[in-house]
Amino acid sequence: MSTPTGTWSAPGRVNLIGEHTDYNEGFVLPFAIEHRTTVALTARDDRRIRVTSTFDPEPAEVSIDTLAEIFPADREQVPEWTRYPLGVAWALLQATGADAVSGVDLDISSTVPVGAGLSSSAAIEGATASALNDVWGLGLDRVALAKVGRTAENEAVGAPTGIMDQMAAMLGRADAAIFLDCRSLEAQVIDLGFAAAGLELLVMDTHVKHAHSTGGYGERRASCELGARIMGVPALRDLSVADLDRAQGLMDDVTFRRVRHVVTENQRVLDTVATLAEEGPDAIGPLLLASHASMRDDFEISVPELDTAVEAAMSAGAIGARMTGGGFGGAAIALVRHADAERVTDAVAAAFAERGFAAPHIFTVSPSAGAGRDA
Ligand code: ADP
Ligand code: MG
Repeated sequence: MSTPTGTWSAPGRVNLIGEHTDYNEGFVLPFAIEHRTTVALTARDDRRIRVTSTFDPEPAEVSIDTLAEIFPADREQVPEWTRYPLGVAWALLQATGADAVSGVDLDISSTVPVGAGLSSSAAIEGATASALNDVWGLGLDRVALAKVGRTAENEAVGAPTGIMDQMAAMLGRADAAIFLDCRSLEAQVIDLGFAAAGLELLVMDTHVKHAHSTGGYGERRASCELGARIMGVPALRDLSVADLDRAQGLMDDVTFRRVRHVVTENQRVLDTVATLAEEGPDAIGPLLLASHASMRDDFEISVPELDTAVEAAMSAGAIGARMTGGGFGGAAIALVRHADAERVTDAVAAAFAERGFAAPHIFTVSPSAGAGRDA
């Protein structure tokens, strides 16, 4: 085996606040985490790409010249997981028009749990895109690489997702979050100051499965589109909290509550950014809790396990807690003082046991650096 030319990695992410706001062209505030996916790249002197992963024994090898035949229509030719890295290669060549590139071996390994809501997909896309961009000398910047990752996921894999995850994976910084405007794609690095304030963030994975593609997600999107149409705006992003009284008189109760979640959630993201700057991270707890209540009561995407995690964490002294991700399962997060982390963890585990829920997986995450070359 030859020595790798280099290694590149990209992180998973957690969304601190801003849920179901992305497709309403609003605001999100995710941060990159220390769990990463690493690509060891070895240059070849032919035109073939071979991908292997510790995650899946089935590798794939294709010619660069056949990528445009495989994607998007004929993706079934290659094993499912390989559509992420091969799809990134395809999307990069599409985006740049580059052609005179040589083959590579990509050996992939990861510490990002798959399917736990931490976006292992954006991590594998970000690591692959960074590696190929450097080695092929394409010169794309980080935002362009995030877009390439989204194109790969949407078109090569066929998963209809937004761009939040890829932006977090590309732009993350230690102890900072990415404040992203999902309409303009303008992104700003926001200091979190968790470390200095002695805070840490717990992820409480309920193991309850969520499937974005099932009814709930599509229904929520449809309600949001209906609400925007009734209000005569391009997207719910264009409404403010002051418009809610008028909205209530114009639509049915369910649609109104969906709209209210999105409008108030956008405002909570803005308030969180302002509160972090003005008062520090100790002060954002009520915003996290209000976000959870809005998803539970207005958007109706929580489940008893998520509510239990949030309530038990708060009772044990968490500063704030909320479900994170698309809903119908997945994980909740809790912001806790370092000294309280163990007590909160134990209290959540005990509350799950008491209700007969499967034991949750609880671990800390630290806001960390985005994608880049490691060696
Ligand atoms: P997540 O919430 O973790 O992003 P997704 O369903 O969006 O879940 O993406 C998970 C998929 O991404 C996996 O099923 C696999 O196809 C691919 N993937 C993620 N990480 C790896 C890896 N390290 N090696 C191979 N495939 C991976
Ligand atoms: Mg994903």
